[in-house]
Amino acid sequence: MTNHNFYNKILKNQDIYSVLKKLGSPIWLYQADIIKKKIQQLKKFDIIRFAQKACSNIHILKLMKKNNVKVDAVSLGEIHRALYAGYTNKNDDIIFTADLFDKKTLKKIVEMNITVNAGSLDMLEQLGKISPGHKVWLRINPKFGHGHNKKTNTGGENSKHGIWETELAIPIIKKYKLKLIGLHMHIGSGVDYQHLKKVCNTMVNYALSLNQKIQAISAGGGLSIPYKSTDQEIDIEHYFKLWNQTKKVISKNLKTPITLEIEPGRFLVGESGILVATVYAIKRVGKKIFTLVDAGFNDLIRPTLYGSYHHISVIKKNNINDKKKKTMKTIIGGPLCESGDIFTQNEKNELIERELPEIKIGDYLVFHNTGAYGATMSSNYNSKPLIPEVLFENNIPKIIRRRQTIQDILNLELNIKKEI
Ligand SMILES: *Cc1c(COP(=O)(O)O)cnc(C)c1O
Repeated sequence: MTNHNFYNKILKNQDIYSVLKKLGSPIWLYQADIIKKKIQQLKKFDIIRFAQKACSNIHILKLMKKNNVKVDAVSLGEIHRALYAGYTNKNDDIIFTADLFDKKTLKKIVEMNITVNAGSLDMLEQLGKISPGHKVWLRINPKFGHGHNKKTNTGGENSKHGIWETELAIPIIKKYKLKLIGLHMHIGSGVDYQHLKKVCNTMVNYALSLNQKIQAISAGGGLSIPYKSTDQEIDIEHYFKLWNQTKKVISKNLKTPITLEIEPGRFLVGESGILVATVYAIKRVGKKIFTLVDAGFNDLIRPTLYGSYHHISVIKKNNINDKKKKTMKTIIGGPLCESGDIFTQNEKNELIERELPEIKIGDYLVFHNTGAYGATMSSNYNSKPLIPEVLFENNIPKIIRRRQTIQDILNLELNIKKEI
């Protein structure tokens, strides 16, 4: 089953023009309706917890909260974002997931009594010592992962994530009277249900062999979205069935009710966002044509980092459609002084031509499905300011992040008052 509607035309061209006219290019645009639709698709799970690192804008978090979605934080900054968005330390609204604590983060977590999903035994020791009785989850490394991409594998011998010797966590938990709430695994099977089954069975094995009175299990995230027309759409019903079965078996064996959490990032926001950039140069290099836009990997790094594919469409400068339907093959790049600043490349960093409707200077390129790991992975490389984010809700655009100014960047280095 392939999904031929693999990218959403999330906005009308007219809406895109009007925002560009006011706020300039490049820009991130999000459609709230799509996020809400994705949340709905997961409503069978007891708790949906948004892995905010995918798109952590406070206003996106507010939208999540309004729709009964809880939140995961992986840093002190993300805890602060959650608090600004209105989340509290009640009902495990915020869970902190990491493999280590730095001093400031640990202090805040203890002060606010935020539940911790621990990915290392050291975290349990350090937390237990200063906050006996604290609520914890164990993030398990089940000794296997998924996928071939070394950079995104979240389990197995080559992953820094999770606890390998899970049984050693129990004496530490006992020593400090920590309260073990749940078991967590974030492996990311995507649409590989055979693999997912293995993950589920492994969760059962851990729950039964640890034999602790837990209250919850978490399936983690890793629900994939179709980026290419040949990518499969995830079968949520199938996904839920496997995990719900897991929950039931654990609940029956431990003789206690279990809450089932799911913790997606990409699935909730990926398809809701686009990056819009303007074409400023089209040049011939040997036999190839390079089309260069004003957004670079400082904005969207996924193609450079992982060789990720994003569908690209063209919006004409004057909204006049080309009746001749002429196309061109081109490589799409950004403005950075760096050869890797190419949006059309594969995992081996080979440049791949894309066939697109004929592009002219001043036209806009839309990078689709960039709502997850787009804006949040942006940087100031080449001293490029962060670009604005706009959220459309009920057809009304709202600026949810202003454009950073060059002065904003420089100010970090100017007028430094504190001496070492
Ligand atoms: C990144 C992350 C997620 C979300 O991953 P997606 O692939 O975006 O769904 C969930 N849980 C944890 C602990 C993560 O680090």
